[in-house]
Amino acid sequence: MEARPAIEGGCACGAVRYRALDAGFLPYACHCQGCQRRQGSAFALNQQVLAADFSCTGATTQGRVTSVSGAQVTHTACAACLTRVYTANDRRPDLVTIRTGTRDDSPQMSPAFHIWTSSMQPWIDLPGHVPAFTGQPDEAEWLHLVRPAGEVEGLAAEPR
Ligand SMILES: [Zn+2]
Ligand SMILES: [Zn+2]
Repeated sequence: MEARPAIEGGCACGAVRYRALDAGFLPYACHCQGCQRRQGSAFALNQQVLAADFSCTGATTQGRVTSVSGAQVTHTACAACLTRVYTANDRRPDLVTIRTGTRDDSPQMSPAFHIWTSSMQPWIDLPGHVPAFTGQPDEAEWLHLVRPAGEVEGLAAEPR
């Protein structure tokens, strides 16, 4: 089996660093109002990795919010500089969602699809070839979009 490349990243001050293996999940943009507010920006850029492949060092602080889909989401930030580095979603316990902008190679990342464009900021002009959804795709469709290579062994496809 081909070795999966590593994903490395961390916070702005360098106190928090993480490492994961790229499990084939693509970065995507969420334009929901919750992400806009939590990011303090126009949208969130997210990417999933397997929780089993993810490790993080450095002092962190956590915050818990209810997502637009109703899931409980725990955000983890650097305790020193408050860069939000990753989230965990109680409906997808096998996955960790990293903030793509915290990857060391983030300038090379572009979203494979866009969700919640119903609340997208009006100045954004999406490229026509990238799939976009006005809301949240259902879980099976989301899994297909986010990981076109197919199912991950041991990962539940059904929402919990
Ligand atoms: Zn920091
Ligand atoms: Zn969102």
